[in-house]
Amino acid sequence: MANTADSVWNSCLNFIKDNIKPQAFKTWFEPIIPISLKGEALTIQVPSKFFYEWLEEHYIKLLRTTLTKELGIDAKLIYDVKMENSYSNTHSQTVKFPSSNRNPINTQGVTIPIEVDKRQLKNPFIIPGIQKVKIESQLNPNYNFDNFVEGDSNRLARSAGIAVSNKPGGTSFNPLLIYGGVGLGKTHLAHAIGVEIKDKYPEKTVLYISSEKFTQQFIEAVKNNDRNDFIHFYQMIDVLLIDDIQFLSGKSGTQDVFFHIFNHLHQNGKQVVLTSDKAPVDMQDIEQRLLSRFKWGLSAELQSPDFETRVSILEKKIFRDGVEMPKEIIEYIAKNIKSNVRELEGVLVSLIAQASFNKKEFTLALTRQIVDKFVKNSKKEVSIEIIQKVVSKYFDIDVPTLQSTTRKRHVVQARQLAMYFSKRLTKASLASIGSQIGKRDHATVLHACKTVDNLTETDKQFRKFVEELNDKLTSQ
Ligand code: ADP
Ligand code: MG
Repeated sequence: MANTADSVWNSCLNFIKDNIKPQAFKTWFEPIIPISLKGEALTIQVPSKFFYEWLEEHYIKLLRTTLTKELGIDAKLIYDVKMENSYSNTHSQTVKFPSSNRNPINTQGVTIPIEVDKRQLKNPFIIPGIQKVKIESQLNPNYNFDNFVEGDSNRLARSAGIAVSNKPGGTSFNPLLIYGGVGLGKTHLAHAIGVEIKDKYPEKTVLYISSEKFTQQFIEAVKNNDRNDFIHFYQMIDVLLIDDIQFLSGKSGTQDVFFHIFNHLHQNGKQVVLTSDKAPVDMQDIEQRLLSRFKWGLSAELQSPDFETRVSILEKKIFRDGVEMPKEIIEYIAKNIKSNVRELEGVLVSLIAQASFNKKEFTLALTRQIVDKFVKNSKKEVSIEIIQKVVSKYFDIDVPTLQSTTRKRHVVQARQLAMYFSKRLTKASLASIGSQIGKRDHATVLHACKTVDNLTETDKQFRKFVEELNDKLTSQ
């Protein structure tokens, strides 16, 4: 009777069963499904990459022995890994790769086919010796356009993202650069674009990667003498989403390699999407030639959401979590957490957790406590030094000018605002604030705080300064 995948695998299992503990057998071998047998190559499906690694680490000798017994000296074992975390939708991605075990072949000698290795592209996602290069998109399907609430603060970026998803590489938004402060949805949007493209164009190779990981992979590639493989790998991508490119600042090697990858992709009509915490003009230590490439496409800013958008975001999340919350509580949160969607979510999560742990109702008192904690925590992070920098930048002066004795009106205002925010956002004493802001005494700081309070009430323009600075400082 001819061998089939099932019959071969069953014989292997019988042998394996006799050689390991029942629990281990149950855990590591029962879930395996034999898929196919082609000549001496048996393909088995394993539930995850972790599973595959575990088998390779702990059972490779056993597998080798039994396979050689069944299929002879040329036996090969191919794993078919059901990918975890991959954005799969209707298309389950599987990656086939030969067993990567590189130990010297022992007496039973299963030939583990590594010889293709040298001619293959190396995939920096550490899937060794890939046969068919299939790339896990690294996308998180929970970040999509459906749950990205539209508002004035994000309309341009969101619409550009949708346009790009409809025609990747085919719009003038290439690259699309999404920039804005922390927690405003840059990562969410980048994923949403990828997720949408995978839906519309399943055959396109999409890859999301953070600049940090990209940099690490590059360093690793250089170390292993694989720089060209690294470049080739990235040049095969149809839609490349790179998050937080400000991380590349000062890293000239990585910038250089990215420049080559970018040019290749762009010339071949592939889509590039970038995110950054700064506008291109404000990016420091990024090469000019890269900056000028970024400007080829569209730079779209994500701003802090306005009150209505904050309420909608909260409502959407509450609905998704299946809880009900009084409108006044939602509005209280939206009113007090202003600059950052991540914090908005943080408050909501804490509130739901607190209420359910302690079996409490959602009350305004509980909400207030949690909001206070969040606001205080973010206060803690700001230092007097940062306040002076932010305020100086806002008034277009430098810190020494702010600290100087100049009586020019805008400098005086800047100085007073720096003192006011230092009092409000740090735990420093009046005396300590005074000594750090141009060696003034505590009375000067107190006077500054009062003046700012008064002006905020009476002067509309001044109130705008305070609000905008407050947003900037609390979103740091
Ligand atoms: P960033 O990358 O800009 O720091 P993220 O994309 O990580 O910010 O967003 C922070 C959190 O806020 C995420 O959980 C994201 O889903 C959520 N978020 C941001 N903007 C929106 C929005 N417009 N609608 C819904 N959720 C949002
Ligand atoms: Mg992010």
